[in-house]
Amino acid sequence: MSAQRLPTPSSDHQGVREWVTKHLGHVSTDPYEPRGEAPIAIRGGQRAADAALANFEVRGYARRRNNVWPEKTRGASRLSPYIRHGLLSLQEVWDRVADGPDEDVVKFRDELMWQEYARHVYARVGTASGESLRFEVDERSARPDVDDSEHPWSSSALCVESAWQELAETGWLTNQQRMWLASHWSVREGARWRDGEDLMYRHLLDGSRAANRIGWQWTIGALTGKPYGFSRWQVEKRSPGFCTSCPLERNCPIAEWPSADEREPKPFTDDRLRQIDDLSEISGPRAWEQTRDPEYVWLTAESLGVSDPASAGATDVPLIFVFDEPLLGRLKLSANRFRFLAETLAELAEERELEVWIGNPVEVLAGRRLATTFAPVPGWRDRAAQLDLVAIAPWPWLQWPKAGSVTSYTAWRRARR
Ligand SMILES: Cc1cc2nc3c(=O)[nH]c(=O)nc-3n(C[C@H](O)[C@H](O)[C@H](O)COP(=O)(O)OP(=O)(O)OC[C@H]3O[C@@H](n4cnc5c(N)ncnc54)[C@H](O)[C@@H]3O)c2cc1C
Repeated sequence: MSAQRLPTPSSDHQGVREWVTKHLGHVSTDPYEPRGEAPIAIRGGQRAADAALANFEVRGYARRRNNVWPEKTRGASRLSPYIRHGLLSLQEVWDRVADGPDEDVVKFRDELMWQEYARHVYARVGTASGESLRFEVDERSARPDVDDSEHPWSSSALCVESAWQELAETGWLTNQQRMWLASHWSVREGARWRDGEDLMYRHLLDGSRAANRIGWQWTIGALTGKPYGFSRWQVEKRSPGFCTSCPLERNCPIAEWPSADEREPKPFTDDRLRQIDDLSEISGPRAWEQTRDPEYVWLTAESLGVSDPASAGATDVPLIFVFDEPLLGRLKLSANRFRFLAETLAELAEERELEVWIGNPVEVLAGRRLATTFAPVPGWRDRAAQLDLVAIAPWPWLQWPKAGSVTSYTAWRRARR
């Protein structure tokens, strides 16, 4: 496969669809055809991100965050895809809610902190976050070839099936539904959690290894020893009236709690969770570091905002973005995820010269002097080590990483250094 420069995606709905099918069809999972009315997609691009943030009302968040159905009772912000791809920084989202009622602001900011925590853990342990961090989890069945048609979420139980459908059709779910799906997959069905995590990641517009793995690890009890059990009780509480329209209402397969043992905590096997020596390796630089003049700003999937620190610091050179073909060929992300990215790139290209490529990023970027924003993910580190980075902008941490324990969210928040 040789690298190829792609035309800039067009910004209209039909144009983006065609662009994704033509240029990324071979590395994506087919678009999922909605069964009923087409759901409202979360649109990519800085304008949509800014509008979503401006329109978000934090009042009522604490009470309504966990509501699932009816849809209009949900209190979640749906900002996650923009946060995931750096269109909104955690700091600006944090600041935006300052005027809200205390209870809601505290709860909302706590969730932003969970996102930051997931990033800190991932920055430390990287790909090892794909192993259970504290417990080996009992898994009855291994499903190495999980595909979209047959898996533990293909169920006649409406709560499970509708959550899976919503994920596949829209690429977004409430936190509650993510816990339901993850728990159903692993705690009740005993399937391999990494396969479920992969399938969820494939569809989530906000899919990040950092947050998705922490979400799964938490649900299966790999962090605390206590798995999260999902049963009819939560559906009745979070989706009142839902069960009455379920074909299995009188024969509910999740009427009882799944059997799951709580276990005595074991020591963490990865020492990096307790303490690290070289903080700079995971935090990146504190300030702009430059050795020579850049020729391009290399944009990554972590950093696609108009005010991405590297783009803002090197305004007179073109932007360049590479779809990593070898990696994407393995991940098989949904066409919907690519739709979101294409809309974002289309908008960036309206303001500034942008080259879009598909291929191996190291090959495409070889020989170019690059400015880029540090990203606390292992993929960035691997590639960065092979490229000519002449300017590196700091990552916009909400809290600067510390060397102490990240063995739990509570330990991380308490750590002083
Ligand atoms: C199994 C599972 C998988 C998950 N996978 C992802 C993922 O791939 N990417 C992702 O960003 N989040 C993930 N989450 C966390 C959370 O469910 C989503 O961030 C949240 O539902 C996104 O919707 P929102 O923007 O409306 O969130 P809101 O409730 O409005 O919260 C605002 C922001 O806070 C952050 N946040 C909220 N809850 C969490 C949380 N529990 N953990 C980490 N950050 C949080 C997100 O950035 C979110 O956008 C997962 C949770 C579980 C249980």
